[in-house]
Amino acid sequence: MLRTLLLALALTLAPALAPAQAPAPPADTAHAAAAGLPAPNPPPVAASAAAPSPADTGAVPVPPASEKALRYERSGNVLWVIGTLWSLLIPALILFTGLSARIRDLSRRPGRKWYFTLAIYGALITLLLFVVNLPLAFYEEFVREHAYGLSNQTFAKWATDALTNLVIGIVGVALVMWVPYLLLRKSPRRWWLWTALAGIPLIVVTVWLQPLLIEPMFNRFGPMHDRALEQRILAEAERAGIEGGRVYEVNKSVDTKAVNAYVTGFGGSKRIVLWDTILRKLDARELLFVMGHEMGHYVLKHIAILLSMFVALLLACLWLVHASSGWLIRRHGRRFGFDRLDDIASYPLLALIVGVVGFAITPIPLAVSRHLEHEADRFGLELTRDNHAAATAFAKLQEENLATPYHGTLYKLWHDNHPPLGERIEFCNTYKPWAHGQPLRYGGHFKDPAPAR
Ligand SMILES: [Zn+2]
Repeated sequence: MLRTLLLALALTLAPALAPAQAPAPPADTAHAAAAGLPAPNPPPVAASAAAPSPADTGAVPVPPASEKALRYERSGNVLWVIGTLWSLLIPALILFTGLSARIRDLSRRPGRKWYFTLAIYGALITLLLFVVNLPLAFYEEFVREHAYGLSNQTFAKWATDALTNLVIGIVGVALVMWVPYLLLRKSPRRWWLWTALAGIPLIVVTVWLQPLLIEPMFNRFGPMHDRALEQRILAEAERAGIEGGRVYEVNKSVDTKAVNAYVTGFGGSKRIVLWDTILRKLDARELLFVMGHEMGHYVLKHIAILLSMFVALLLACLWLVHASSGWLIRRHGRRFGFDRLDDIASYPLLALIVGVVGFAITPIPLAVSRHLEHEADRFGLELTRDNHAAATAFAKLQEENLATPYHGTLYKLWHDNHPPLGERIEFCNTYKPWAHGQPLRYGGHFKDPAPAR
């Protein structure tokens, strides 16, 4: 979900910050390797929610991190540092070498009219960034995932997805980049405020279109194959207070061995999506908890909360661009090859400032996301009251997904959009207000407070 919003933000403002990549896993669960997984449990015969048997209601121990998971995390950290520096270095180079001004001049010849110059510049710079980012993207998304046994993707599928992303990027830039530049011309003092306000409908439309138009370009979405399980999930959704909820299954097994489920869309396009991989790896009780977690996002309007936060952060970012760009242009304008921010050649300058500010404030959206994920866990537990299945679902995820159970403070601040799995397992082991006669935090949302036993 957070990634969807980041994509929307990136499309709206700074394609430079969104190097070629397939729509990232909406990161609700995490990567899980297929190797060594037990066969999925057979579906229970009874259609009612399976009551935990006395044998499997005890606390679930947090699995220790495997050697391979530690290696995956360490190499991922190195890659993250390289990727972060790279994403700042590239716009800086395009800016300080005067390349951006040369691309602007090139775009003026066929472009002539203001909008066409802008769209051609946008297409050229998107193409340039795509090419420059390609080796790192290929290594990170394809080579490395295969090396760790996390990927099922063929090279053809990876390449097709990358090119699809490039086309989406070029079209997206042509559709939205004129907005800040028009506002910069019309209102040099308040453009940052108007742009952030204009960003609201743009981000909402992007999030709305994500499941309808963008995601189907990469994978096939359809109704669940297991109709009996679908019925149980829909019954659970009704209990959670979701009227006419929609559940989709997507063929992510062509891309990855990772398992995931997520809520996506906005308004009429809102839905819960299950990767086909998760349906094979988790048993029915674990899946019903995972769905309870997703329903928590749905019922508690987490997408709308994240959207509002992003608009606020966008406003802060744009104000900082406004406040600092004048000084930078006065000082380095000759090297940049432009002397006004409303010149389209200033685009890498915008991207650079947004990149630096974005990096500095990353801990804020991540902390909000971790909080919302924790509350979704609470919602799922209160809905299912199946602590054991919840904890085993997370333990399975961690063991099979090359995750580590606990993270250091810095890692948590700049990386974790979910609480570390060890903390989630501990919470699942201990959170049982209903067992002590205490009120449920989200019981008011439930149509029927206690699950059928
Ligand atoms: Zn979640």
